[in-house]
Amino acid sequence: MTQVYKFGGASIASPGRMRALLPIIRSAQDPLVIVVSAYGKTTNALEEIVWTVIKNDRQAAMAYAQKIEQAHWDYAREVLSPEAFALCEPALNGFFTELHWAMDDIEGRSLDFVYDQVVGIGELLSTTIFAAFLNDSGLPVVWQDARDIIRTDDCYRDARVDELITGQQIKEKIAPLIKAGKIVVTQGFIGSTDYNATTTLGREGSDYSGALLAAMLPAGSLSIWKDVEGLMNADPRQFKNVQKIPEITFHEVIEMAFYGAQVIHPKTIKPLHNAGIPLKVKCFLKPEVPGTLIHQAEAEIPYPPLIVLKEEQTLLQITSRDFSFINEGNLSRLYQVFNSHQLKINMIQNAAISVVVVVNNIPNRISPLIETLEKDYKVLRNDHQQLLTVRHYNDGLLNQLTKDKKIILTQKTRQTIQMVLE
Ligand code: ASP
Ligand code: MG
Repeated sequence: MTQVYKFGGASIASPGRMRALLPIIRSAQDPLVIVVSAYGKTTNALEEIVWTVIKNDRQAAMAYAQKIEQAHWDYAREVLSPEAFALCEPALNGFFTELHWAMDDIEGRSLDFVYDQVVGIGELLSTTIFAAFLNDSGLPVVWQDARDIIRTDDCYRDARVDELITGQQIKEKIAPLIKAGKIVVTQGFIGSTDYNATTTLGREGSDYSGALLAAMLPAGSLSIWKDVEGLMNADPRQFKNVQKIPEITFHEVIEMAFYGAQVIHPKTIKPLHNAGIPLKVKCFLKPEVPGTLIHQAEAEIPYPPLIVLKEEQTLLQITSRDFSFINEGNLSRLYQVFNSHQLKINMIQNAAISVVVVVNNIPNRISPLIETLEKDYKVLRNDHQQLLTVRHYNDGLLNQLTKDKKIILTQKTRQTIQMVLE
């Protein structure tokens, strides 16, 4: 059965890294669809073009564009034979032309529209080089423009996928290539509207593209190749002695993402879960190491404690001015106010005439929120708090995690404990 492999920016960050993927691809037992994102930090660099071009700073925008173009030419020259480079040159030139069109076509366009036309080029360039490299290495690769596959609405920078049309296009365009023995290389992160404008699916959205393809082909599994050995039970940048999770359910991963773990793009899980397709997180630096298997497990899985620590939290104590109770009516209005200021409530606890809410400290959203709230409530604000969530906790670990910290608030169920720490 076909497998989908997704390679992120880090896995092709340099020509050396790209070459090192060859044995991984060669040793696949099944037909492959390969989803690739832009290499290294290309997406951030393309964003710089957008920010400058939209301010009409053409000179800066051109300088950024030139740097990106040069970097791609250097990369392609290094990883490809002269013959393969010559074959791939017109395609790269075509995308650079597309980039300049997008930079010129800003009159009357929204920032988000310009963003997608410019930023989407990164994946088109990286996949062009990658496909040429794999062909050059003797693999029967076909490059596929994801904009002819992934159909979306025109909600630029956060486009919603039309699953019906996308599913049809996958069956019509990708399935026959697989049948003919080809390896398909396509872009993550991008799609297109029915008017052929490029759209993007949100930063880090290539995982989601991989999941859509895997779910709709359907594939036997999706493998996401990362620079870590799998999912860890805590962020190694925050904690020592983290452990790898060999096996985990879709449900548990969704819970971790909900509490703020930056594991996998959150939209990735649903299509895979619904189609019953397992997700593997594997390490491109150590392909022999079994990574993490995420699936709908039949038997109960014993988990280590799963720890999520969110920094820079703001705690708001909201008290009614006229001593009126906090009831369901007020709470639902409060939720609406938070929602309209695009602030997700990470934790909430209410008492008779007050409610405590914990949110991410996003200064340009919190200040207007407080302004709105202060019409009806007294608001006390505490910045620089931490929100610690532990699933499958035990007392020993909790003592260790909260040592030398002041516990401001605790909420606890049988599986999950959340604490605000100072
Ligand atoms: N290249 C895009 C980004 O960096 C998409 C992705 O990496 O998944 O956000
Ligand atoms: Mg990327």
